[in-house]
Amino acid sequence: MNYAAVVMPGANEPLRIDEIDAPMLTPGAALLRTLYSEVCGTDVHLHHGRLGVPFPIIPGHVSVGVVEETAGRVLDVWGDVVKEGDVVTFLDVHETCNACYYCLVARQPTKCPKRKVYGITYSATEGLLGGWAQAIWMKPGVKMIKLPAQLAPETFIGGGCGLVTALHAVDMTELKLDESVVVLGAGPVGQSCVAFASLSGAGELVAVGAPTTRLDFARRMGATSTIGLDVPAADRVTRVRALTGGRGADVVIEASGAPDAVAQALDMVRDGGRVVVCGHYTDNGTVEIHPHWQLNRKHVDLKGCWGARYDHFHRAVSLAARHGDDKPWREMVSGRYTLDRAGDALAAVEARAALKAIITPNPELLV
Ligand SMILES: [Zn+2]
Ligand SMILES: [Zn+2]
Repeated sequence: MNYAAVVMPGANEPLRIDEIDAPMLTPGAALLRTLYSEVCGTDVHLHHGRLGVPFPIIPGHVSVGVVEETAGRVLDVWGDVVKEGDVVTFLDVHETCNACYYCLVARQPTKCPKRKVYGITYSATEGLLGGWAQAIWMKPGVKMIKLPAQLAPETFIGGGCGLVTALHAVDMTELKLDESVVVLGAGPVGQSCVAFASLSGAGELVAVGAPTTRLDFARRMGATSTIGLDVPAADRVTRVRALTGGRGADVVIEASGAPDAVAQALDMVRDGGRVVVCGHYTDNGTVEIHPHWQLNRKHVDLKGCWGARYDHFHRAVSLAARHGDDKPWREMVSGRYTLDRAGDALAAVEARAALKAIITPNPELLV
């Protein structure tokens, strides 16, 4: 049995569709028929060769599918059997080894050198290991979650990987009730950072980004103020200070991917405040910072946030189910594309015409 899959053959090369063999399922493995797979900024960066990946690859790291087949008993984290017909999503990061220094001593499994990521670290020659395909091979040990009945798949995939990244980043801020928060960047990660900071009880919650439509959307996610990128950078800092009693924000989350946003975050945060950088998953270049004025003298806590663990993923699914009616993740899906139009989806995300584009490899399975 073969399944169609979008293959990214190399940096800046046009996408193509290949037929890929179904895997032989060993005990603990499963096969999903893909309902949705997201297109995110990372896929654009992958296509430009900004992250070393084993081309050719099948992109698509966060996906939702229907279980077609399992081999042996496959259990979810509750101990329930994952069976044919279940609608599931899965943690794209897996094979963290639980045996190395990072897993066991530093307890930072997102830095485990053995970890694998669907849609990113696998070559298409290894099989159906990316979401832009009619079927996805769940290797043994990949953690699947059945979508709760009240969680529409569109709500979850609308948030997509940005949900999980944002939850990890907001966790790292150690936000307290009523603290002020600035989120730099109004893309999918920034929107979910706003949503989760709002759910965490942020006080003044400022979204900075462009265009205006995304800032309006951020208000619906919970932002209390917005600042557009048409405002000169120095004036954005002045505006944040005016909104925070002249001090600067307690917390700033950088989710834009622009190098100068990191320097700006350090200007916007108050003395002794926290900055978390999660927008630089790929190499977007360098920026100059002033260690005396922006870090040491300010007594700033500056953290980088890389990847996600199962607990982030699990809680992100649960929060999307609980708050999907109030927080409009579902409306972030601004374009649906069949496999043959994956190149258009990538172009729409790159041009920022789409907040979230999704691939629907089996449109006949969607009701
Ligand atoms: Zn490890
Ligand atoms: Zn992503």
